[in-house]
Amino acid sequence: SFPADSVPQAPEDALFGLARAYKADTSSNKVDLGIGAYRDNNAKPWVLPVVKKADEILRNNPELNHEYAPIAGIPEFTSKASELMLGADSPAIKEGRVTSMQTISGTGAVHLGALFLARFYKGSRQVYVSNPTWANHHQIFRNVDLETVDYPYFDKKTRGLDFEGMKSTIQSAPEGSIILLHPCAHNPTGVDPTLDQWKELAAIIRSKKQFPFFDCAYQGFASGNLARDAAAVRYFIEQGFELVIAQSFAKNFGLYGERAGCFHVVTGPGADAKSTIGRIASQLAILQRSEISNPPLYGARIAATVLNDTALFKEWEGNLETMSGRIIDMRKALRSKLESLGTPGTWNHITDQIGMFSFTGLTEPQVQKLREEYHIYMTKNGRISMAGLNTHNVDHVATSINKVVS
Ligand code: PLP
Repeated sequence: SFPADSVPQAPEDALFGLARAYKADTSSNKVDLGIGAYRDNNAKPWVLPVVKKADEILRNNPELNHEYAPIAGIPEFTSKASELMLGADSPAIKEGRVTSMQTISGTGAVHLGALFLARFYKGSRQVYVSNPTWANHHQIFRNVDLETVDYPYFDKKTRGLDFEGMKSTIQSAPEGSIILLHPCAHNPTGVDPTLDQWKELAAIIRSKKQFPFFDCAYQGFASGNLARDAAAVRYFIEQGFELVIAQSFAKNFGLYGERAGCFHVVTGPGADAKSTIGRIASQLAILQRSEISNPPLYGARIAATVLNDTALFKEWEGNLETMSGRIIDMRKALRSKLESLGTPGTWNHITDQIGMFSFTGLTEPQVQKLREEYHIYMTKNGRISMAGLNTHNVDHVATSINKVVS
């Protein structure tokens, strides 16, 4: 009853295909620059020391059980998650203009946001997303019958932001359109607007009565500073925007598989803000109930343990600096090696870009050659994960790039 014309074979997910090919490669020189997870200088997964401590604390707590979490998640997690994103002294929090739902990591938060907007937002069915964006955005919005439309983002020539293209497309998008924005460490390009550029974007989005949807998967992971990485979101809220935020704790806590995340709705200031947020929270609870009933406990408990303890929080900030610092060092090392080899082209974009990923500008044939001849694996759009670089392989990567580019 499921013939191929109704259920055709789907193409393999590009990233999983890449991971499979890497695994099958028997070369001792192989380098994985496709992975979307942090690796230490020995290319190994890194359990954050603060997460180990939180784990220990949880394990020694005889009160803990495996009962269901509340539908909206555990409050000691969601309340701190919103403070982390909005700032502990945010007027939106003080005025009761925020509602938060614990989700299945960032993906679940984007999905819940998409579902909520598809059901209740009357402004538009079109979601403007950066070109390129995290590929899953297209699928998640399509799943709830919202249409994605591209806005220009990456300038192939400068390998930086195509700010003029981005602005003019958003400016000419219909009133009420949903505008999806990455507040920091844009995936896949590593290119972020400056704070002044965010201010210009906010002015356009306000003038067109558009709806901002922030997808924040890398807070603290980009600059190493939690407030700086949330500056765009906080600026929009300061400006009185009504908006939604998807928040992931996968990267900044290294809790990838534990699926800790949060979805926040913030309403604008006003006399009816509190009652609006109450109505929204009631509908989100119904959506959550039908989708997952109750969010998973473990990752949220780990994050909550850290977020609610001043000393552990400080230690976490140190762990974030370790990760972001190593990545920034690898950017510097790769750029300087390429430049000292005299590799054709300019390589400043490697250090100008920020966060886990870099859009190198390597072409598909060059990417192919790196894989086949030098055992270096990256997505065919030339995106590399900085986390895959370390002091042992950066020379091999730079000399190999030099050979395929020259
Ligand atoms: N949004 C963006 C832009 C991402 O890059 C990612 C992860 O790569 C996510 C959301 C969701 O990640 P997760 O579901 O693991 O939290």
